[in-house]
Amino acid sequence: MHGETLLVEAFRILPAQASALRRLGIVTVKNLLYHFPTRYGDTAEIANVKDLKKGETAVIFGIVSGLKTSKAFRKRIPMAEGFVDDGTSKIKIIWFHQAYLAKMIPEGSKVRVEGKVSERKGVLYFSNPKIEVIPDLFSKTKTEEHSPYPVYPETRGVSSNWIYHKVKDIFSSKVLDELIDPIPENILKNYHLPRLGTALIYIHTPKKMEHAEAARKRFAFEEIFFIQLERQRLRAEFKERNAFAIDKTVSDADKFIERFPFKATEAQKKSISHILNDFSRPHPMARLLEGDVGSGKTAVAATAVYVVTTSRPKGQDFGTLQSAYMAPTEILAQQHFESFIKYFSHLPINIALITGSGCKKFPSKLNPSGATDISRSQLLKWVASGEIAVLIGTHALIQKSVKFKHLALVIVDEQHRFGTAQRQKLAGKGDITPHLLSMTATPIPRTLALTLYGDLDLSLIDEMPAGRKKIITEIVLPTKRKDAYEKIREELKAGRQLYVICPRIDEPDPTKELAVQAKSVKEEAKRLKKEIFPEYEIGILHSKMPARQSGGGKPSKEKVMKDFADGKIDILVATSVVEVGVNVENASLIIIEGAERFGLAQLHQLRGRVIRSNHQAYCFVFTESQGEKTKDRLHALVTAKNGFELAEFDLKQRGAGELVGGKQWGISDLGMEAIKNIKMVEAARLEATRIVGEDPELKKFPLLKERLESVEKKIHFE
Ligand code: ADP
Ligand code: MG
Repeated sequence: MHGETLLVEAFRILPAQASALRRLGIVTVKNLLYHFPTRYGDTAEIANVKDLKKGETAVIFGIVSGLKTSKAFRKRIPMAEGFVDDGTSKIKIIWFHQAYLAKMIPEGSKVRVEGKVSERKGVLYFSNPKIEVIPDLFSKTKTEEHSPYPVYPETRGVSSNWIYHKVKDIFSSKVLDELIDPIPENILKNYHLPRLGTALIYIHTPKKMEHAEAARKRFAFEEIFFIQLERQRLRAEFKERNAFAIDKTVSDADKFIERFPFKATEAQKKSISHILNDFSRPHPMARLLEGDVGSGKTAVAATAVYVVTTSRPKGQDFGTLQSAYMAPTEILAQQHFESFIKYFSHLPINIALITGSGCKKFPSKLNPSGATDISRSQLLKWVASGEIAVLIGTHALIQKSVKFKHLALVIVDEQHRFGTAQRQKLAGKGDITPHLLSMTATPIPRTLALTLYGDLDLSLIDEMPAGRKKIITEIVLPTKRKDAYEKIREELKAGRQLYVICPRIDEPDPTKELAVQAKSVKEEAKRLKKEIFPEYEIGILHSKMPARQSGGGKPSKEKVMKDFADGKIDILVATSVVEVGVNVENASLIIIEGAERFGLAQLHQLRGRVIRSNHQAYCFVFTESQGEKTKDRLHALVTAKNGFELAEFDLKQRGAGELVGGKQWGISDLGMEAIKNIKMVEAARLEATRIVGEDPELKKFPLLKERLESVEKKIHFE
């Protein structure tokens, strides 16, 4: 047996098990070794059945027998019952409403039972306890040595017990001696991390919890270290390329900034100076501009574009360098197109928009103060000839057919919506690589930013425009809805506008039980018009609407957004399509329906829609859930001073195993544990940077290189 041996060759495996394993991504012996327990049970806590007393909460280990289903006494509730015997005595277990449990647990299994001891007619029993089948080697009695037992992610077809035994078999072969540790020896020593072989034994079969913890720490480090290594390599490679050097000074940029209808914040100015500094070098900028929603990233981006469009291609005394600006949605691309027209109408340059549903150009030949529709082929021609100085668009921007003459700057807005691969694609393969400015408002914890954006330099806008008032956020339970609506009516009367965010588009299918609770955009708009706000104009916006108007048909997203921006619509009922970037200054009110369905980061983004001006903004978080966790989360939304604080809270609150967030960034639950540890993340970054600095090609580290190549494959597969 070797690490790469297929499991089906190493063991006798039933077809159902094989497919369950495949679903988990486990094919080889090594894959199984890297399939880690999600947690550990502890045998130290167990009680003897003979000592149990009424009313106490206890954990027992024993063997199940006599399982059967029946109907309970009077009310004929379906129930299951059975016995657990731990050698000291036997106790009855009853499950009401969970008769299926009797069928799921095989007779004779070794189980861990946890619950409260009840009594009926002098007989003790457990009622609806937690029960789990455990690896049989661990069902020791209290007198024996205690060790934690591994609990693996539950999947139909492969039990924890099965995995445990197979791992034991692998350990007793020679496989561990053959596996080579990908992490250099000195790093392991420096940070007191166990070697691969030891760590595998510790993580699957710990003798004590410290072993398991040491091993988990090592594998968490390993994951983050490899992500860092990959990012640092990207960075080193990127920084080697050639770019247009753009020689502009702060006072050049000031000419543009002075025209703003507001005073730029210090943080905006600082970010602009970072960018100017990067531009002056003949190598591409790779910068992340991170700032909370409403902090004014667009103005910084526009200044960068200004500097580029007022520069000539080398050796030319005509034409301009070009910029591309990529937004994640059509609504946003359209909006940026309009605001860029305002920013640049005083300059003799062409600005164009490209999205899946059409192209536009400013200025129009016939109407110099407006934009006009143009054909895609015309647009492509003008971009290729360099006549269009600024091209704004959605994904359509990164298609192969879009070729620039002198592309000097690429801006990616709300970059968390795009993967690393798309970022790379924009960076292009030509002789000259454009400077890259990525922008994000995703308030992610610092450790995560260091990890995910290890290839980028960071500029932080940590200051809001002067005069902004903090959004007043209120959690509204069903009984308080009326009050909230009245408060909103007051603001609407004063001329403000309102967003109402619903989790769904259509009226839910009543046969789908869960869906019924989620409000739909269409129904909610009808209800509001009829029952709450008959005096106001109500519009709807969702992702299934056509992007642009097509002759008299249904209203398009573009039309509705425009009507809302122009104040023709007072209340916009929408799905979370308005989540990113949408900017309507007069809209200072937002209701979020079914708030418990949204993640904290998303709620924060949604709320960010109403902090676009100096009107006092309100966010009403409507929820029906009164669960503890939801309460805590929504409370954090009310009290957190900014998105970053919220992100840190989110990271702390989510327990291992439910870190759904990690998946979206390609980080495992174990890796997310490392993310909670700033020291570990910094160490991983330091070591990765050092290695890449000394040996960018990793010639001296063939193992690292090999491992990286497999990581890269995974990342680009996203
Ligand atoms: P975000 O960082 O979320 O992308 P925007 O760039 O859309 O934010 O800016 C939000 C709003 O704030 C816009 O209406 C913009 O014109 C305005 N704004 C930007 N910078 C300032 C500033 N320094 N002072 C006042 N208003 C500003
Ligand atoms: Mg923005």
